[in-house]
Amino acid sequence: MIYKRSSALFAEAEKVIPGGVNSPVRAFKGVGGTPIFVKEAKGAYLYDEDGNRLIDYINSWGPMILGHAHEPVVNAVIEKAKKGTSFGMPTEIETQIAELAVSMVPNIDKIRFVNSGTEACMSAVRLARGFTGKDKIIKFAGCYHGHSDSFLIQAGSGASTFGTPNSPGVTKGTAKDTLLAKYNDIENVKALIQANKNEIACIIIEPVAGNMGCIPPVNGFLEGLRELCDANNILLVFDEVMTGFRLAKGGAQELFNINADIVCFGKVIGGGLPVGAFAARNEIMNYLAPLGPVYQAGTLSGNPLAMAAGLSMLNELNNDAEVFNRLKEKTAYLHEGIAKVLTQNNITHTINRLGSMISVHFDEEQVIDFDTAAKGNNEKFKKFFHGMLNAGVYIAPSAFETWFITDALSYDDLDFTISAVNTVSKTL
Ligand SMILES: *Cc1c(COP(=O)(O)O)cnc(C)c1O
Repeated sequence: MIYKRSSALFAEAEKVIPGGVNSPVRAFKGVGGTPIFVKEAKGAYLYDEDGNRLIDYINSWGPMILGHAHEPVVNAVIEKAKKGTSFGMPTEIETQIAELAVSMVPNIDKIRFVNSGTEACMSAVRLARGFTGKDKIIKFAGCYHGHSDSFLIQAGSGASTFGTPNSPGVTKGTAKDTLLAKYNDIENVKALIQANKNEIACIIIEPVAGNMGCIPPVNGFLEGLRELCDANNILLVFDEVMTGFRLAKGGAQELFNINADIVCFGKVIGGGLPVGAFAARNEIMNYLAPLGPVYQAGTLSGNPLAMAAGLSMLNELNNDAEVFNRLKEKTAYLHEGIAKVLTQNNITHTINRLGSMISVHFDEEQVIDFDTAAKGNNEKFKKFFHGMLNAGVYIAPSAFETWFITDALSYDDLDFTISAVNTVSKTL
């Protein structure tokens, strides 16, 4: 395929935008080459500035679960826009989407809308700290909760006591309050709690990790966290920015039948517009301003266009009893097809999958946490990525990302993809 215009547009962008992009993963640093500029998208397909058509397995990193430019969502936004785009005053549609979200998700009474997943997670942690009166948090290596300071932390030499910043600009003081744990390792979490008795406000986790490939929790892990939290007066925060309204109507809480204390949303809940949200039972949510002492605010929070897109998206999902099953079946079909051709071509691999999340790792071990995900063969992944792109299939430009299956994919698209994997694997 030819990417002449994309390359030219990227060169222009680099002059006025750092790295040419407004979010780093888009720059293709993990795979080499220059990014593709999108012109438009419809259903399962992206159309780039050079006129290439690509089957999209990223879908804006999750939000477009029903495909691009899904008509009810687009129409809802257009109709809303004609009536004004922002007021900074309450609107009825905010209550409508809140009521719907509360009815779909288990164990939440109230929800507050913000503008991104980052904001949702950042606010959830502040609320957990305010509510418990404690400062420290536990996060898991390889889990992503947005780019706020408390989360940009890596395991330090004193990992059992505190982490260290993994970006300049994050202070040591902030890093000291974030403890790093190993995903799927309950003993590790126990030890951290022991070493920091009565200091931990919350444990925040992606209930199915999606930012180091797709890594489901091992049996008993989430249950174990729930028990530890209950026993130690710690709040359990599920970051369902990726899994919410994707794995089931009620997200991972419903799928695993485990209650979190605070749940964060983003991506699907905004139907492709900038939306995040966090939710909990009354007792916790009433701790937020203006009812309670924990401050949190936003000029564009609950923006009418964003709420219109989100409400339409949630309605579509709520009214379609089969959608999550269809997504799961399509993902399973893709998994079987890819596994078969990779095996036939003698390519060492591990495929992880849950619901409509799937990741292909060039790794012979099971991938269960950040360390095992990091062992994958990145050179092979780069070749795979570019081979697939050349065949007209767009997967994430990084080995540490899940693929997001959309309901707009047809079985012909899936067969096309499997056959592309077959062709590409002969070159690996
Ligand atoms: C994408 C993501 C975020 C951050 O959301 P943004 O809208 O990019 O700020 C947080 N948590 C998880 C699990 C995510 O996948």
